[in-house]
Amino acid sequence: MALLELIDVTKHFKVSSGLLGLKTGTVRAVDGVTLSVERGQTLGLVGESGCGKSTLAKCIMGLEPVTSGEVLFGNRSIAAWDEKKLRSKIQMIFQDPYSSLNPRQKIGSIIREGLDIHGIGSKDERREKVEQLLKLVGLRPEHGRRYPHEFSGGQRQRVAVARSLALAPKLVVCDEPVSALDVSVQAQVLGLLKDLQKKLDLTYVFISHDLSVVSHICDKVAVMYLGRIMEIGESRNLFADPKHPYTKALLSAVLRPDPTNRPERIALTGDLPSPMAPPAGCPFHPRCPEAFDKCRNDRPELMDQPDGMRTACWLYGEQ
Ligand code: SF4
Repeated sequence: MALLELIDVTKHFKVSSGLLGLKTGTVRAVDGVTLSVERGQTLGLVGESGCGKSTLAKCIMGLEPVTSGEVLFGNRSIAAWDEKKLRSKIQMIFQDPYSSLNPRQKIGSIIREGLDIHGIGSKDERREKVEQLLKLVGLRPEHGRRYPHEFSGGQRQRVAVARSLALAPKLVVCDEPVSALDVSVQAQVLGLLKDLQKKLDLTYVFISHDLSVVSHICDKVAVMYLGRIMEIGESRNLFADPKHPYTKALLSAVLRPDPTNRPERIALTGDLPSPMAPPAGCPFHPRCPEAFDKCRNDRPELMDQPDGMRTACWLYGEQ
C-alpha cells in the first residue's frame, strides 16, 4: 500500500524584476510529476543539479505549496493534515552535517528539540529517549553532552539521523545525505539507514545525483530532468536495462569496480536548459545523442515498458 502518492504535481515560481515587480517569467521547477512510494520502501530521485528534485522534496514535506496537482500522505492530502502532526510524520535529513547542526547546541539538546516542541514525555523520559536514539544510530549516551564540532562528518550525520527519528516518523526525506562524506563513511551511513528502515519500518525518499549510491539503497528510482520524470521503475530493472538516453548517460558516468564491464561513456553536450524556457518537444532533445525530428516537436509522456519500467522517450513508444 502506498504511503506517499504524487498526482500530477507542479510547482512553478513566478519571476519578477524592476521597480514595479512586473512578472517576467515562470520557473517550472516541477512540471507534472506522478509517482507513489510503498510503505517500507525507498524511492530514489536522481538527476543533475537544478532538475527539480529538491523542490519536489519540499512539496512532499509540505514546505512548498504545490501550484497544481496533489500530494497524498497516508491517503490524505497533505494540505488537509494538521501541520504539527505532519511534521512529526515526515522528517528530513539534510546534505551537510556541518551546517545542519547548531554549533552552539549540545547533541542531546539537538536530538531532544522535536520532543520538547511537541511536548512529548516528561523531562526524564525525553532524556531516556535521546539516549536510546543515540544508541540506535551507533553513538554512546555520553555523546549527548558534547557539541557538534567534537564529531566527525559521519558521526554528525548519525546525529542528524537520530534527530530525524525522535518523533517516530513514517517517512524520511533524505536530501543527498551522504554526498558530503568520504566514500568509506558513505557506506557506513547507508548501512545504518538500511538497518533502521528494517527495524522501524521506515519509508524513504532518497535524493541524490549519484547513481552508484542510489543503487545501494533504493527499491525504485525516478530519473528527473527539467522538473519532469524521464524514467521510473524498479531499481534492479533501471540499472540492468536503462532505456531513456538520459538515464543511459547518467549510468555511463558511474565508476564500476570491474573495468571490463563498463558501458561506453556518453558525454552530454550543452548545459541543462533554463526551466523558465524549457525546449519544445522532448525537454532532453537539445542534448540527446539519439534525437530525431519528432523529438523536437512532440513531448513524450511516460510510456509502459514490458519490464515494468515507464519511460518518456519516443524510442520506446508510439512514433
Ligand atoms: Fe532523445 Fe527523442 Fe527520446 Fe527525447 S524522445 S530522449 S530526444 S530520443
